[in-house]
Amino acid sequence: MSNVVPFNRPHLTGVESGYLAEAMRGGHLAGDGPFTSRAEQLLSKITGVADVLLTTSCTHALEMAAILLALDPGDEVLVPSFTFSSTANAFAGRGARPVFIDIRPDTLNIDERLIEAALTERTRAIVVVHYGGVACEMDPILEIAAARGITVIEDNAHGLGATLGGQPLGTFGALAAQSFHQTKNIQCGEGGALLINNPDLVDRSHIVRQSGTNRTAFLSGAIDRYTWVDTGSSYLLSDLLAAFLLAQLEHFDRIQSRRHHIWSTYERELNGWASEVGVGLPVVPSSCEHAAHSFHVLLADLEERTAFIANLADRGVQSAFHYVALHRSPMGLKLGGAHARCPVTEAVSDGLARLPLYPDLSESDQARAIEAVTTFRPRRRHR
Ligand SMILES: *Cc1c(COP(=O)(O)O)cnc(C)c1O
Repeated sequence: MSNVVPFNRPHLTGVESGYLAEAMRGGHLAGDGPFTSRAEQLLSKITGVADVLLTTSCTHALEMAAILLALDPGDEVLVPSFTFSSTANAFAGRGARPVFIDIRPDTLNIDERLIEAALTERTRAIVVVHYGGVACEMDPILEIAAARGITVIEDNAHGLGATLGGQPLGTFGALAAQSFHQTKNIQCGEGGALLINNPDLVDRSHIVRQSGTNRTAFLSGAIDRYTWVDTGSSYLLSDLLAAFLLAQLEHFDRIQSRRHHIWSTYERELNGWASEVGVGLPVVPSSCEHAAHSFHVLLADLEERTAFIANLADRGVQSAFHYVALHRSPMGLKLGGAHARCPVTEAVSDGLARLPLYPDLSESDQARAIEAVTTFRPRRRHR
């Protein structure tokens, strides 16, 4: 077999092109057209959040959150160090200082036990990332935040459809950001959404998303003309992409059930090998239903991980490492990352590899991936 099993392949439901053609015929190509409204309604139903706004990306939804926080220079925002640059960048771009927090060795989520000690008078927000769609420990995090008047924001790029104690992710923070980038479970190439759980932030969210204008109030007839009233930017998703996104959202259950099937097959087939050779697999606490966003293995160090990825590549299977620890990145170091102590993030950043997981992964290709993984014998144990 010479064909390569790719790490990721964006899934198409087959309905996208019909909806795109319909959007083009309808003539409303800018944001907030009929498909935006249908996609927002469906997203509302999936998440249980009444106020949902489509955005151009998750990065931009996080930037909206940063604007809504009205940060002052020198304010501090706690972020896990094991995440994508946007989680920190959105807040750094508004003058805040990201404070990098280490992750838990089991779920790879922000370690809630380290939050209290990182708080100062300048702490304004805690941004949590539900890694792989496995929930953070939200109870203690929300408790600390409420006691200190700090805002919690969820970067829920991985967690659409996941729950904690039966409650959907994206409903815990004042605000949550979703991603519809082509690497995510539901995608439209580039896209995102802001979920607004704090009703006090709804009106201003519309203004921030509409270039700082009160256009939404104008369109609803509340005022006779619209004007510039606040800071903001143009964060609206084109209705063409919303049409594509609607097709995906309408197939959410089918996409998720396929992803869960693949995820569970990996777990079942790799468990024995992993415990025998001392490799870590995803940990999902019993209170969590995960989103089947990714499936990873945790190796002892960078050398083992490099050998693992090469072993799969030799067998025609692509795998991928993930985040480079933000506090060790050139930008993170400029923002004070050298003072951060994040040993778990460093080990996971070096030792983690992700396996192919997408609805179109065939059974035989997954079998090849599993076979390639289990031929690997690490020299050092991760655990
Ligand atoms: C993908 C991702 C983002 C960025 O999403 P975009 O829609 O590409 O801006 C942010 N945070 C996390 C955790 C992600 O995985």
